[in-house]
Amino acid sequence: MLEPTDKWLCELVEPRHPALHTPANIDPFTAPDDANWAQREVDMFELMHKRHGIGLASPQIGNSYTMFVMNMQDTGDVGVYNPKILEFSEETIQMEEGCLTFPLLYIHVTRPEKVKVSYTLYDGKTEVEGWLEGMDSRCFQHEFEHLQGKLFLDNVSELKLQRAMKKRDKYLKEIQRKVKI
Ligand code: ZN
Repeated sequence: MLEPTDKWLCELVEPRHPALHTPANIDPFTAPDDANWAQREVDMFELMHKRHGIGLASPQIGNSYTMFVMNMQDTGDVGVYNPKILEFSEETIQMEEGCLTFPLLYIHVTRPEKVKVSYTLYDGKTEVEGWLEGMDSRCFQHEFEHLQGKLFLDNVSELKLQRAMKKRDKYLKEIQRKVKI
């Protein structure tokens, strides 16, 4: 089990970090430190926006708290604590996904189209429940998966992953070539 540290280092950890492969198991509101979650959200949103992401989960910065932040289409930045997925729609949809832990790697992943979710806000009291669809549903499911110690690339075949990685490498080379010129 990963223990929270009293240091808040809001930086992305590398893909092999154990936090990314272990289910998050620390309730943010019982954390044995004086965590200021309102401030921690600000740090996470800053990192998320800087990297042009729409979601960032605690394991991605090396912690095991059951929380993530995401940018919702209507309400904007939201900190999501102790999330649950209560129901999945039967309809599924394939969408292209990226992940801040794997820059420039884009993979088509099939997931349920809508999800009924519940979670708490940073005060630990305000409860939210409802259906999400579109990008909100997609992002919530992706971040929720991080809290289970899984990654978006676990959802596709080895062949599909290899293809996506080749595409990323090609793209990286193009960028490096352009930078040299
Ligand atoms: Zn991710």
